[in-house]
Amino acid sequence: MGRLDGKVALVTGAAKGIGAATAELLAREGAKVMCTDVDETEGQKVVDAIQDAGHTASFMTHDVTSEEAWEKVAGETQRSFGGLHVLVNNAGIAPEGIPIEDLPFESWKRTLAVDLDSVFLGCKYAIRLMKECGGGSIINISSIMGLVGTPRSSDYNAAKGGVRLLTKVAALECAEAGYNIRVNSVHPGYIDTPLVRGVVERSEEASANELMGMLTMLHPIGRLGTAKEIGQAILFLASDESSFVTGAELVVDGGYTAR
Ligand code: NAP
Repeated sequence: MGRLDGKVALVTGAAKGIGAATAELLAREGAKVMCTDVDETEGQKVVDAIQDAGHTASFMTHDVTSEEAWEKVAGETQRSFGGLHVLVNNAGIAPEGIPIEDLPFESWKRTLAVDLDSVFLGCKYAIRLMKECGGGSIINISSIMGLVGTPRSSDYNAAKGGVRLLTKVAALECAEAGYNIRVNSVHPGYIDTPLVRGVVERSEEASANELMGMLTMLHPIGRLGTAKEIGQAILFLASDESSFVTGAELVVDGGYTAR
């Protein structure tokens, strides 16, 4: 028996990092998984690996900032898999690393679009589908940066802080309406994914090795997290094991925010 047998899941940003690891875990636990991303090549590879392991998944190209794209993905998920029970709003981009006084307004708007507008749109379309299926679980990927501030990260902090509170409002609305839909946020510390590798490689402040060392020291547990460790937390929130958890923020950060 899988922990998600009979469920349909949609994972955005599933081509890499946390999204890819999560899609694989959810499929292994019995969910039919719709994987979406802007990166079609890598996304299709994730789906091929899931199918080769004997599980069920499909890929759709999907820009999470587009409402039209969300309508298409919701419709296709319904047609292919018969409904939706789990949404992981995971797709995201890193901050530009620029102080507020120099940050171009266009950069601010781009980060807010990918990291926050996407979560609003995902919740909107998932609630509509899930209430027809008798309920579900929405998991919004925020960050430790949705809990504490970081210099030169105003765009990302604002977006991820927004995800935290948007999650609570969605949880309250769904509970009040009696939809049996739970909505929670996950707050990872630094996780070793292409996103973090990209930030480290672009840095002009220190060498990649020095920066990885500095990031490691921010985590009392003494290392960065893995995508699979975030996937395991998401799996718990997706499954019925978390049936009394809604509006919560699950921090998975190796102790980063404990000090
Ligand atoms: P990742 O390795 O960069 O994977 C994210 C995926 O999302 C990529 O395939 C990316 O495609 C895709 N994507 C970007 N913009 C998109 C868009 N508009 N529509 C659809 N897909 C899009 O990132 P990750 O580290 O796994 O992060 C996943 C989530 O966790 C993000 O929300 C991130 O903010 C959050 N998070 C990550 C960390 C961390 O340390 N890694 C910590 C806290 C929170 P491209 O590569 O082509 O852009």
